Amino acid sequence: MLKPIKRVDFASQRREMVEHQIAARGVRSDLVLTAMRAVPREEFLPAHLREFAYEDTPLPIAGEQTISQPYIVALMAEALLLKGGERVLDVGTGSGYAAAVLAEIAAEVYSVERIGQLAEKAASTLAALGYANVFVLHGDGTKGWPEHAPYDAIAVAAGGPKIPQSLQSQLKIGGRLVIPIGSEVRTQELVRITRISQTEFRREDLADVRFVPLLGKEGWEAEAEPWQPKLRVLRPAAETLPRAIAAAAEPFASIETADLDPLLTRIGDARVVLIGEASHGTSEFYRMRDKISRALIETKGFDFVAIEGDWPDAARIDHYVRHREYRPSEWTAFSRFPTWMWRNNEVRAFVDWLRGHNAARKPQTRVAFHGLDLYSLYDSIHFVLQYLDEVDPPSAKVARERYGCLTPWQTDPATYGYAALTGKYPICESDVVHALGDLLKKRQAYAAHDGERFLDAVQNARLITNAERYYRTMYYGSRASWNLRDDHMFKTLTTLLAHHGERSKGIVWAHNSHVGDATATEMSARGEHNLGEFCRKEFGQDCYAIGFGTDHGTVAAASEWGGPLEIKNVRSSLEGSVERLCHDSETPCFMVALRNRDAAHIQGLLKPRLERAIGVIYRPDSELASHYFEALLPDQFDEYIWFDASRAVSPLKTHELKGLPDTYPFGI
Ligand code: SAH
Repeated sequence: MLKPIKRVDFASQRREMVEHQIAARGVRSDLVLTAMRAVPREEFLPAHLREFAYEDTPLPIAGEQTISQPYIVALMAEALLLKGGERVLDVGTGSGYAAAVLAEIAAEVYSVERIGQLAEKAASTLAALGYANVFVLHGDGTKGWPEHAPYDAIAVAAGGPKIPQSLQSQLKIGGRLVIPIGSEVRTQELVRITRISQTEFRREDLADVRFVPLLGKEGWEAEAEPWQPKLRVLRPAAETLPRAIAAAAEPFASIETADLDPLLTRIGDARVVLIGEASHGTSEFYRMRDKISRALIETKGFDFVAIEGDWPDAARIDHYVRHREYRPSEWTAFSRFPTWMWRNNEVRAFVDWLRGHNAARKPQTRVAFHGLDLYSLYDSIHFVLQYLDEVDPPSAKVARERYGCLTPWQTDPATYGYAALTGKYPICESDVVHALGDLLKKRQAYAAHDGERFLDAVQNARLITNAERYYRTMYYGSRASWNLRDDHMFKTLTTLLAHHGERSKGIVWAHNSHVGDATATEMSARGEHNLGEFCRKEFGQDCYAIGFGTDHGTVAAASEWGGPLEIKNVRSSLEGSVERLCHDSETPCFMVALRNRDAAHIQGLLKPRLERAIGVIYRPDSELASHYFEALLPDQFDEYIWFDASRAVSPLKTHELKGLPDTYPFGI
């Protein structure tokens, strides 16, 4: 016969315990009594001891340590004089029970445990119970946890010979430290130290107690130390993270109604705002980026938008949005693969708005639209020559000869790179560098003619020099060409900031993989750098990077480079990814700030996790290998914007463009 399972009613035992062992002994604080009623002590015990969870006694846990007697935990918690909302340091995590009680009252609890096995176990118990506001560190607690100091209150659950200086110094003025102190290892006086001023402390003796010894630098000397405490933070486990993310998130119902004020406050006076996208074909990313950009332009006076698109294409848009007076080139912006990336209704709406916005402004204060990318080698050659034909025909002739070196490879510049590599064909580097040099030498004469158009020509000539190298380095592997490209983008951005004036401000639209700091991702291990990393180095807090993410939906993408546009289904995010955590937060759309290192969701996210990047190509069948990489989200971005479900951008259709004036940049 099977033994009947003994059911234990822990909840009622807990209520009785609070009444008979705690309230009856004089603990009065409602906050403490409520906390003691809430924390399931049985969960912090090994299975065979659970039935004794509410006995009036300490109990053994691993490592020859003990979980404190419930009354002692309550007594200490009361002695800390907590009112709610504080930051508390707990030395001697042990089972994690006392930390949980404190976490019921305080805003954040930082708990330090010397024995790794206990720290590990406590962190996972706390996480499983949903305590996202407790952080466990494996280390010597006599030295406190200075990174999060000062504390409103510090509780020490092990007895030392004297009061650790480090702990005193980590108290706020007015803060309380409760610690057992005794000249003998096993008996102590529970004392409360209150910090009165920078240098003064008040001591009160509270009770006679018996705690396990506090071993460490500023405690009792540990005999033979079988191991070294490793300074390692055990963060809340993944399952509590979605909750922490949901708690920190600023949800919004739709892009139209989203309140941007908190985000704009966080952006503050940043000079550069980098706005990412997790694919090159998701409508939500484009529309939210549009909304943020309009707000930045209208409320913070941003001077230009610079996109991950080629200079000459963006220049055509710029001509339109800034109402330039000279004739536009007969040029359809973004007519090469991948056309949908910029030729879509989402971008068109912004471009039309920007033109309207600029109409009422003086020409020199109109907001500009630029391109940072370098794929337009031959178009750029065409524009440099066209410019020189107009302003300086003899120089045009020289330039035409120089650029002639590249002419044979017009249909596919990548073949130039290969041909140059074989050594059988000339390398055009010196020709294109000289062409740029010639142009720069005439800066004064040309710029006097029209500064904006000179910038246009110089940027095209710079693009040619970098693109020439780009196509050659492509064959040495992706790292060199990636770095060259992002370097070009960054230099173009700084040129633009200089061009638009000393205090000018710029918005960048580019893929997450360009705007998020590469040092926070596996790109950095491959030796790759990016625009976001350069911006962070150059502008520090004056640069604000926003990343985007989505779980599922549709996306506009091709199956291979140069292939046709398809509307593809985006698969739900993978286990272990940032996206899965956001999905599990059960908040369909939100913004979340990532700069505050102390927030619970940040602590949880500061661990490398998979992150998805869809580019112009999407291969759902090999998603993990093709589209996921590892990243530390809070180090990568300052803000993350989430759309659980998303849909593809809508590419411009020919019939929608019929009958538009030839000044229209998206003409057919
Ligand atoms: N608050 C715990 C009580 C644990 S007993 C609970 O309710 O379960 C005290 C703990 O302090 C032990 O786990 C012991 O390993 C730890 N300890 C002793 N010296 C320490 C030190 N210098 N730093 C951190 N933890 C220490």
